[in-house]
Amino acid sequence: MNKAVFFDRDGTLLIELGYLTHPSRVAPYHFAAEALRMARDHGYLLIAVTNQSAIARGYLSEADLAVIHRRMQDIFGEARAELDAIYYCPHHPDGTVRAYRKKCDCRKPGIELGVQAARKFDIDLKGSFLIGDKETDLLFGSGLGMTTCLVRTGLGAPEEERLGGEGLKDSMVFDNVLDAVKWITREDGCSR
Ligand SMILES: [Mg+2]
Ligand SMILES: [Zn+2]
Repeated sequence: MNKAVFFDRDGTLLIELGYLTHPSRVAPYHFAAEALRMARDHGYLLIAVTNQSAIARGYLSEADLAVIHRRMQDIFGEARAELDAIYYCPHHPDGTVRAYRKKCDCRKPGIELGVQAARKFDIDLKGSFLIGDKETDLLFGSGLGMTTCLVRTGLGAPEEERLGGEGLKDSMVFDNVLDAVKWITREDGCSR
């Protein structure tokens, strides 16, 4: 079986913009490519899972999103850090686009996209990790049995404050995705 690191996209790999609707605005954190490369060099598959309710809200189409993701992969690819797969949920219960307006199982914290990835890539979820900047990411990861990491980038710092020690349960907290991957791969030689 394979092991993987599941990455949230916005606020974790890409600078949080609210809604990212144009490829020209794809802006990875400056440390994101190194984090991806380090995880891959340690044998992890790199999987992004992102909630894209902007599609349900009519802000962009799935074709637009594909162009945005191609741009993101080009940027990471130049740094030898391309993701193995990108999964997204286009739905939202309050969406304005009828086809995408629904309460689905694939919007995080729903675990459906992780289940699909695990099946496709033969992933051992217990040996895998989730890195994200919101509680919904952590719930997605823990719901799949993964070890979960909250990052303070994006919406992460206020999320850490809101959740407090109790709410974070078993999640680790790091300043950013690179620090999280260093811990996952034990590059930093310490446990936190
Ligand atoms: Mg996020
Ligand atoms: Zn969905």
